[in-house]
Amino acid sequence: MSSKPKKKSASRASASRPVSVVTGAAGFLGSHLTDLLLSKGHRVIGIDNFVTGSLQNLDHLAGNTDFRFIEQDVTEFLFLDEPVSHVWHFASPASPIDYAQLPIQTLKVGSLGTHKALGLAKAKGARFLLASTSEIYGDPLVHPQREDYWGNVSTIGPRGCYDESKRFAEAITMAYHREHKLETRIVRIFNTYGPRMRLNDGRVVPAFVSQALKNKPITVFGDGSQTRSFCYCSDLIEGIYRLMMGKDPLPVNIGNPTEMTVLEFAREIINVTGSRSRVSFKALPQDDPKQRKPDIGRARKLLKWAPKVSLVEGLPPTVAYFREQLDKTGRSR
Ligand code: UDP
Repeated sequence: MSSKPKKKSASRASASRPVSVVTGAAGFLGSHLTDLLLSKGHRVIGIDNFVTGSLQNLDHLAGNTDFRFIEQDVTEFLFLDEPVSHVWHFASPASPIDYAQLPIQTLKVGSLGTHKALGLAKAKGARFLLASTSEIYGDPLVHPQREDYWGNVSTIGPRGCYDESKRFAEAITMAYHREHKLETRIVRIFNTYGPRMRLNDGRVVPAFVSQALKNKPITVFGDGSQTRSFCYCSDLIEGIYRLMMGKDPLPVNIGNPTEMTVLEFAREIINVTGSRSRVSFKALPQDDPKQRKPDIGRARKLLKWAPKVSLVEGLPPTVAYFREQLDKTGRSR
């Protein structure tokens, strides 16, 4: 009897320690999520095939025994020989330029990759969270976007590969929830920015900041009247963590509802960087959503979450990160 309690408490301690699998762990959001989970006491198994992720985003975890990395394409069978408590499916190209260049990989990771990640969660009895997107609303006809809006998506347009793969991903996630009783969560992520975004991923934040730092023209697409609302990465990851730890299987928007036009955003970047850049108008890409702003009523109510970091606070560390990256790669390039 005397040795038993000791043994029990030791095994309970290790059994109760959460183990998270993060697909896309070397990406912008996957790496920030990994950091948050480690800070909350999780052991983390990160998976990435570096199609758009970067080892540099995980460099700081070298030697951290709570972190294990597996280089793998998540569309292939995922085998892990240890218990897993949470699966966070973040792997996917996510910028319009990336998914235009990788349409088939984008469709595969959203469909086959989500299937494999769900299969892993089911095999392990783990809770599953899908990183979905505001793109499932397409070019929205309802504003701001609430989770009960079904969207306005072109299946065959240039953004269809991403939008439809994420719509499929949501559908299969709900199917696993309903049929296999898997505990699932779906977050619809709106435009997010911060350190570790890829300098050349083509998205508006890295594009404008790097152009401004080089005093080159700021390429505003169309007349710049289209709107976006930008969420700082730490706010977003906190909201997603609360969603996973909460109870609701239905989709929740996480994003910052402060809306601005792309032209206003260009001017803000010029101000923050003190740049001599001027705005240069370019053709608007096909199917570019005209307006986007999350209704975060569900996140406020269910998760007691709202963003805290304003653009004025979030841009300086982002600009500092891009400045460092440009200094590494040479500003002229
Ligand atoms: N955009 C722009 N110039 C650029 C890159 C993007 O004007 O160099 C615009 C783009 O047309 C869109 C908005 O900025 O209206 C946000 O684009 P992003 O690629 O960041 O992502 P999206 O929100 O369209 O998925």
